[in-house]
Amino acid sequence: MSILICPVCSEKLGLHEKSYKCKNNHCFDLSKFGVLNLSLNNKSSKKRHGDDKAMVVARTEFLDKGYYRPIKDAVITLCEKYCKGAKNLIDAGCGEGYYTAEVVKTLVLEEVFGVDLSKEALRYFKKRIKNALPIVSSIFKMPFEESGADFVLSMFVPDAYNEFLRVIKKDGYFIKTKVLKNHLIELKQAVYDNPYYNDEEPDEIEGFEKLDEIITDYKTTVLGDDIKKLFLMTPYYYKTSKTDQQKLEKIEKLEITVSVKTVVYKKV
Ligand SMILES: [Zn+2]
Repeated sequence: MSILICPVCSEKLGLHEKSYKCKNNHCFDLSKFGVLNLSLNNKSSKKRHGDDKAMVVARTEFLDKGYYRPIKDAVITLCEKYCKGAKNLIDAGCGEGYYTAEVVKTLVLEEVFGVDLSKEALRYFKKRIKNALPIVSSIFKMPFEESGADFVLSMFVPDAYNEFLRVIKKDGYFIKTKVLKNHLIELKQAVYDNPYYNDEEPDEIEGFEKLDEIITDYKTTVLGDDIKKLFLMTPYYYKTSKTDQQKLEKIEKLEITVSVKTVVYKKV
C-alpha cells in the first residue's frame, strides 16, 4: 500500500490508469513525462518554482563529470551500513536524481519518490530512475502519510525537519548532506571582493538520534565551462550581480575545496 496521500484532503491516493485519485475524487494526472504534480499553488504566480532549465542542465552536466563522486560514495557507504532494510525512500529535494540513482542501485526498494519544486529537474529524475515516482511538491508539506517512510534522503536542501519527522516511521532513517565552512570558498573568492565562509549548523536534530557521519573534504580542479556550471548549481548564483558572474568567464581552471558532511540519523 502506497504512502502517498491527497494534498487536498489527506486521504490515500491510488493510481487509476494515468491518474492518482483519492476517495473524495480529487484527481491528479501524471504528465507525459511521468511527473505527478501535487503542488496546489503553482498556477497563478510567475515567480520561479524550483530550478529552471539552464540550472538543471548545468547541474546534470557538472555532476555527471564526477566532480562530486566522493560525496555520492559517502552517501552510499552510510546507506549500505544502516539502511539495507528500507522498503521505501523519499528523496526530499531530489533535483535530477544524481544521488538517488545510486541509492536505488544499492538498496532493494519497493517504492521510490523524488520530491522537488522543479518540474524540469523531475523530468531528468524520471529519466535516471525509471521506476521512481517524481512529485512536484514543497518539501515542507509533502504528500505522504504520517510515519510511513523507511528512509528520507536530503542532499543540500533547506531543512524541513518537522516534516521529515512527521513522515518517517519510528526507527526509520534520515540521511542528509550539508556544507561545511570552506566548501567552494575559492569559487566565492573568484567572484566576490569579500568572500564569506559558510555557516555550519549543529548536527543535533530534535526527534532524531545521530548514528554516524562521514566528512568528505578534498580539492579538485574544475575546468573551463564547468566552473560556470558549478556556480549555477549554487545558491550564490541568484544573489550575484551580472558583473560579478562575468568574472568567472575569464577563468580557465580553478582548484576548489569540496567540504561537506553526511550524517545518518534514526527517528527515535
Ligand atoms: Zn482528496
